This record gives sequence, structure tokens and C-alpha cells, in this order.
Amino acid sequence: MRLLEERILRDGKVRPGGILKVDGFLNHQMDVTLFAQLADEWYDAFRNDGVNKILTIEASGIGLACIAAQRFGCPVLFAKKTKTKNIDGSVYTTLVQSFTHGRIYDVIVAKEYLRSTDRVLLIDDFLANGAALEGLCDLVRQAGATLVGAGIAVEKCFQPGGERLRAQGLRIESLARIKSMSDDSLEFMD
Ligand code: 5GP
Repeated sequence: MRLLEERILRDGKVRPGGILKVDGFLNHQMDVTLFAQLADEWYDAFRNDGVNKILTIEASGIGLACIAAQRFGCPVLFAKKTKTKNIDGSVYTTLVQSFTHGRIYDVIVAKEYLRSTDRVLLIDDFLANGAALEGLCDLVRQAGATLVGAGIAVEKCFQPGGERLRAQGLRIESLARIKSMSDDSLEFMD
């Protein structure tokens, strides 16, 4: 998506360790007009798939997922990072290794809000090594819900997540696909 690529080139900042900072419009301050345009793209891609729930992971996916949910006319559910154990069996839980913080989190959703009848679209800001998306896929699988696919704003194609998850059959619609990135250059896939 040209618009998002141009915005990344204009306002994104490359940080050491292969991190792209997009705090000015995506991760901290949020440009919701841009978000609505991203949501339109995902809606075009998944409009015929009967999506009735959007699932994301806190924190930075939530803003995007809310605008996407509004476009699809369905609720948005976010997986919570937590230290609380699943004592009473009321939550699905999985482990996710955070790319940006290097930590492993327990991630949960309440069983009450993710049902086997749900047709779920995953939304997240970045796809890098794929751990976040894989965790969300696992929660959907545990619920016996249908996984329709994933809408991603920025995919870093030089990291292995996208290729691995597509090979497992996940449909992923990424709106900006970065081929390579260094301090002084950033190249998108064709
Ligand atoms: P993965 O689990 O695919 O390795 O990483 C995805 C998660 O890590 C995303 O939810 C996102 O919050 C964070 N992330 C990964 N790469 C970047 C990056 O280059 N910049 C920012 N701001 N977040 C990233």
C-alpha cells in the first residue's frame, strides 16, 4: 500500500537491532485517519469471509484492531499479557516471546469471548519473527474457532515469520512489506 510506504519513509526511524520506530503515527501517537485507510484495505481483502471477530494482542495492535473492527462491524478482542495463571480454567492461554522486549509472556483471552462459532481475523501492527501472530493462532485453535487470516500493517520480510506462517496455510495481508532496512536505507518488496 503506497500510502503506508510513503508514511514510513517520511516518518519512520530505523533503530539498531532491526527495529522500525513508527511512534509518530502508529505505535504511540496514532493517525486514525490513516488507520481507517488501512482498515479499508483489510476489509477489501476479507469482506467475503464472514469475519465476526477481530483478535489482536496488547498493546500496540489495539488501536488498529479497533478501527478495523469498526469497518467490519464486529467486536474486537485483545489478548492480554498477564502473570495470572489460568486457575479456574476460564481462559485460553499461550506463550509469546516479545520481539521488542525480548521477554516471554503468558497471553490470555477469556473463553467466554472466543467461541467455536467465531470467524476470526487477526490484526497486528508488525510481523517480524511471527511469535505474536503464532500465539494468536494458537488461541483461536484452542477455542475451535475458524481462523480467516491476518491483516498486518508492516511486515519485515527479512525476518522469518511471514514465510513460516504462510507455509502453515495462514492467509496474511500485509500492507507494507519491508525487504531490507539499515540506518540509511529502507527498501520495500515489489
Ligand atoms: P514478532 O512476534 O512477529 O517477532 O513481532 C511482532 C510484534 O513485535 C508486534 O506486535 C510489534 O509490537 C513488535 N515489533 C516487531 N518488530 C517491530 C519493529 O520493527 N518496530 C516496532 N515498533 N515493533 C515491532
